[in-house]
Amino acid sequence: MLCYICKFSDVTSESKGLIETVSCPRCGRYSVDRKNVSALQNSPDLSTIKHIISGYLRYCFEHDLNQPILSRESIFSNIIENSLTPKDNEIQKKVLRLLEFLQAKTVFLGNDISVDFERDFSLTFSLHPAEFKFILQHLSTEGLINIKAEDQASARLVLTVKGFRFITKTRPTKKQIFVAMAFKDEMFELIKTIKQNVETATGYTLALVTDHEFNRNIDDRIIAEINRSHAIIADFSHNNPGVYFEAGYALGQGKEVIFTCQKGQTPGGDTLISQVHFDINHRNHILWDSAQDLETKLINRINATIYR
Ligand SMILES: [Zn+2]
Repeated sequence: MLCYICKFSDVTSESKGLIETVSCPRCGRYSVDRKNVSALQNSPDLSTIKHIISGYLRYCFEHDLNQPILSRESIFSNIIENSLTPKDNEIQKKVLRLLEFLQAKTVFLGNDISVDFERDFSLTFSLHPAEFKFILQHLSTEGLINIKAEDQASARLVLTVKGFRFITKTRPTKKQIFVAMAFKDEMFELIKTIKQNVETATGYTLALVTDHEFNRNIDDRIIAEINRSHAIIADFSHNNPGVYFEAGYALGQGKEVIFTCQKGQTPGGDTLISQVHFDINHRNHILWDSAQDLETKLINRINATIYR
């Protein structure tokens, strides 16, 4: 039979009641509810996102993570918006997902790991094996992997010491979300008001650096806090340059960034969000008008998108 998601041939499956478990070399192992499987297969959206679903399923399989029984609804709510899942243009996240795979498979330093281009392009959430090969070349040029041997269909890869260091540096070590915002009393008050409820409802600690009255430069502590966080909240209400830097840095490290901005107006009568630079303002901001409003919206967004 063909894989319901990626159409790989010769996949195997077994059924227990209404739940069918499929083993696909590209997607790993996943389950579908047989009642819904034709709606899933015939979903008009599936053709444009199947590589994303396939990549997500494979990631969960390789890392022993629980995954939902696939349905059209779960595809959208749990997979596409999940912080694990790279969007098509999020190259850094794709790169990280592959390095994490190699790290998980490495038994000893210098151990080589075989990849098959047709089977394994899901490791980078790619649409096509050519993109997977392109990413391998990039990682090799950057010195993060060595390609020990390569033919038309496959390659043997070794994660370098530099590659290990890269993963360790960016891997979250605390269940925390860093808050990037303007250093203003009103902003500290705002975060103080919502901190406890957000932490209780999401299980993540909110981290912020508060003693930068005299040194507004981005320092090592901020970088270190972002590195050890799962995600960052970047508030653009005061259009603060530091926040652009911190959001950009976090995106570059493959972290999820939650963009927020107050609904208010500038003295000139423009909305605050209209002040935000074009490169950032097309992103989906949480617009908030009170502490209570921000608290509710942040809890919903974190619970819906940040992988736990
Ligand atoms: Zn598949």
